[in-house]
This record gives sequence, C-alpha cells and structure tokens, in this order.
Amino acid sequence: MKAVVVNSTNRANIEVIEKELRALKSGEALVDVEYCGVCHTDLHVAAGDFGNVDGRILGHEGIGVVSKVSEDVTSLKIGDRVSIAWMFQSCGRCEYCVTGRETFCRNVKNSGYSVDGGMAEQCIVTADYAVKVPDGLEPAQASSITCAGVTCYKAIKVADIKAGQWIVIYGCGGLGNLAIQYAKHVFNAKVIAVDINDDKLSLAKEIGADITINPISQGDADTIIQEQTGGAHAAVVTAVSKIAFNSAVNAVRACGKVVAVGLPSETMDLNIPRLVLDGIEVVGSLVGTRKDLEEAFQFGAEGKVVPVVQTRCLHEVQDVFEEMEQGKIQGRMVIDFKQHKCKA
Ligand SMILES: [Zn+2]
Ligand SMILES: [Zn+2]
Repeated sequence: MKAVVVNSTNRANIEVIEKELRALKSGEALVDVEYCGVCHTDLHVAAGDFGNVDGRILGHEGIGVVSKVSEDVTSLKIGDRVSIAWMFQSCGRCEYCVTGRETFCRNVKNSGYSVDGGMAEQCIVTADYAVKVPDGLEPAQASSITCAGVTCYKAIKVADIKAGQWIVIYGCGGLGNLAIQYAKHVFNAKVIAVDINDDKLSLAKEIGADITINPISQGDADTIIQEQTGGAHAAVVTAVSKIAFNSAVNAVRACGKVVAVGLPSETMDLNIPRLVLDGIEVVGSLVGTRKDLEEAFQFGAEGKVVPVVQTRCLHEVQDVFEEMEQGKIQGRMVIDFKQHKCKA
C-alpha cells in the first residue's frame, strides 16, 4: 500500500513509499483510510522538531472504514467508520486515564509520531481508542474534527463559557474557524474573533463571529474588547504568537479564563498582580479525549459545525506541506486516499 513517511533528506521532509503493515495483534483493527488531513503538527514531526522519526507513517486526522478486526475485538465491527486521532492510545490505568484526562497520560501513544498514523491507504488502530463517526457527517469533514475540531471543542469546554457570555478567539485559521463555530453554535456564546488577516476575519464573520478585530488596522484587541464588552469572560488562543497570548490576558474581565492551544516557542508575559487581584486563570488544553471527540463529531453530524476542507490527491502531498509551511492555506487540506488514481 502507499504511505506518506518521514524522510528528512527529501523535499518537505516526506516521501510517498510502498509499505506493508504488520499483522494485527490482539485488540486491534485494520482501517481502510478514506481521508487524512494535514496538520501543522505533521510539519513539526516531519522536520524532526520532536526527535527524528524517519520512516514513520505520518497522519493523525485520519478517517476510514474498518476492514478487519482481531478475534477479541468487541467495540468495532467491519464496516464501521472510525477516527485515527493524535491520541492513538493511552495506558488506561494511570491517575490521568482514570479521571477523564487521558490525553495527559504519561504513556500515551500518538498516531503519526510514536506509532504509524493515518496518512496511508491502511492503518492499524487500537479498537477501543478509535472513535466511531456518526451517520450524517461527511468523512472529509470528519477528518478535520478529529484533530482541529476536537481541540477547539475541548478548549471551549475548559474555558467554562456559559450561554450569552463573551469569548474571544485569537487566530481564525484552521483551528480558530472551528473554535468560532463551536463557541457560537454549540455553547451559544457571543464571539469576538481576532486575526491579523482580513480574509480570515470575513470568514469569521460569515460563520458567526459577533465582533471581528484586526489589531494591525484597528489597534490593540484587548483595549477594544474592554471598551465594547467590559472584558471577555474567556479567551481561547489558537494563534502561534506571544503577542496574542499577552493580549488575551488583558482582554478578559476579572475571574476570566485564558485557554492556551497554539504552540509558539516563546514565553508569554504574566503580570502577577493582574493574576492575583483580578483572579485570572491561564490554562493549557491538549486535543481531547475519546468522549470529547464523540461529542465534537455529533455536533458536526447535526450541522452545527461545518469544517472548511479541500481534498487533494496523494501525489500533491509535498506541495500541500510546502503551502502549509508558507501559510498559504485557508481551512484544512485533506488527502484523499479513496479516489487517488494517480501514480504517486
Ligand atoms: Zn493535528
Ligand atoms: Zn495513562
């Protein structure tokens, strides 16, 4: 079968090769991959930012149909459509796993990084960790919810936002546009969208943002937010910039919560008196549990959240990685493993 693997000596640090998967072990299922989205994390993995993993099959935004199960598998059957997510498997026994925080398990396995992922014609999954895709959710759109969607959905849960309250979303790209939709259409919050790109802000407006702010043309987002709303109740920062994180702390009202999702390799400023005197909370949020993904899928199936995706052929995968590196992409690029008839 064809697979996209890490090759640090090749263009975009990746290569499409022929690879055979090992036999299924107990508790596992084989998935015929339909679609797999390309995420910024894939670029980091391919570049060796988390260590060299040459030869590893990439991909953690995979969707496919189960074609084979081990004898002992009871949670999946042939024909089920399932996810191949970043959280491939956790230990199931530690303090994090047994308290609903399995993404923080110290022994977690990650698809397309520590184990082979979904950017291939087939993928082996641990059956109990593959989340079923509900009927009515288009599989290419589901691939986008498998990582970007569930990450935003979980971050808004962590933000503890209530209906009618103000939430500000920093960064309106691949994650942010989904964060806006979940915040507006699932949590019934009032949404402020902040981005330095006007095209992304007009998309934000279309999908439900109540206020949009471009700090470059309009001035400090936090000042505008304090003036217009008295401070947001919460902020979710998907932008990969410390400026956004610093602004978020100033944009929330007393007892507001700032949820970090973007991963700039920088340090943010934290004014300690501001934290103490105003009771501000700053917290990180990492993808989502299986339960979070099940819920995030369901809201997609109900049409409350519609991921913006564009499908691309396998032979274009290096172009997609390069376009993404250059920030040229709107919404999500999804590699089509079902239709590809090319000679990649
Ligand atoms: Zn991802
Ligand atoms: Zn664990």
